[in-house]
Amino acid sequence: MGRVIAVANQKGGVGKTTTAINLASSFAAAEVNTLLVDCDPQSNATSGLGLAKDPDRINTYHVLMGAAGVEEAVRPTSMEQLWIIPSHKNLIGANLELVDAERREFRLRDALQPLRDRFQFIVLDCPPALDLLTLNALVAADAVLIPMQAEYFALEGITELLDTVERIRSSLNPELALEGVVLTMLDERTNLAQQVMAELKRFFGEKLCATTIPRNIRLAEAPSHGKPALVYDVRSRGAESYIRLAKEIIAHHLPVQEAPTEEASGAQEVAVAQTAEQEQVSEPAPEMDKSA
Ligand code: ATP
Ligand code: MG
Repeated sequence: MGRVIAVANQKGGVGKTTTAINLASSFAAAEVNTLLVDCDPQSNATSGLGLAKDPDRINTYHVLMGAAGVEEAVRPTSMEQLWIIPSHKNLIGANLELVDAERREFRLRDALQPLRDRFQFIVLDCPPALDLLTLNALVAADAVLIPMQAEYFALEGITELLDTVERIRSSLNPELALEGVVLTMLDERTNLAQQVMAELKRFFGEKLCATTIPRNIRLAEAPSHGKPALVYDVRSRGAESYIRLAKEIIAHHLPVQEAPTEEASGAQEVAVAQTAEQEQVSEPAPEMDKSA
C-alpha cells in the first residue's frame, strides 16, 4: 500500500510546490514508483514538471467531480518512475461545486484508492488555503508534510494548520500523521535561522526533519525549464537536499530501500549515490541537536 503525503501550509510561497515536485522526483530517482497530484488551481506543480496548459486534458478537477476515472488522469513525466495528475485553473470551481456534494471531503481519498497499490508514494501539492481542496488532500493523506520558512512567529503561523490537522484527526481521518516539518529557503548561517530552528526543534522534536532545504537559485530556476531540480542540475545544493529529504522519509517507511542499488547507473542514480557520500561528511542533524 502506497503512502500518501500531503504537502500543506495555508501560508503562500513557503515552498510547498518546490517541495512536492522535488520530493516526488527524488522518490522516483530512488527507484520507487511515485505519483504527484496537483491539487492547486495555480497548477504550478503541473507546469513545473513541463506539462503545457491544456484545458481539455483530464485533471484533478474531473477526478474530484467524478467526471473521469482516476486512471485516465494519470500522465507520465520525463522521469521513468514519476507520474502526475495535473491541475488546471478550473479546479478553483470544485471548491464551490462540491459544497453540497455527498462525501465532499472524501472525494480525493475515494478517487485515489485504486492507485494505492501501484505507487509507493503519492505526493499531494496543496493550495495556500485551508479550503475544501486542502481538506480533501488532508483526508486522502496518511501524513502531512509541512514546509515552512525560518522566521519569527513561525510557530504562530502554523497553529491554524495544526488545529485543522487535529480536527481532521478527530473526525474525518483519524490516521492522519505528521510526516514532518521541513525548513525551506534556509540560510543556516544567520542567527535568526539558528534561533528559529532551535525553537522548532523544542516544539516538534523528531518531527522536525533533520534535512533542511537551503535557499538555492537552481530550485527557483528549474520549474521554468519544466524540470525537477535533479534533472535540471543534479549537483546543485537544492537538488541534493531534496534527495536527502526523500531518503530520510524513505528510511522511515521503506528501510530496505535506504541504500542505492549496486547496479545503479545514470544521472538519477548518481544523484542518490552522491547524496549518500555527502551524508557521510556532513550530516545536518548534529548541528540542530547542538542548538536545541
Ligand atoms: P503557493 O502558496 O503560491 O502555492 P508555495 O508554497 O507552493 O507557493 P513555491 O511555489 O514552492 O511555494 O515557492 C515560492 C517561490 O520561492 C517560488 O518562486 C520558488 O521557485 C521559490 N523557492 C522555493 N523554494 C526555494 C529555495 N529553497 N530556494 C530558492 N527559491 C525557492
Ligand atoms: Mg504552490
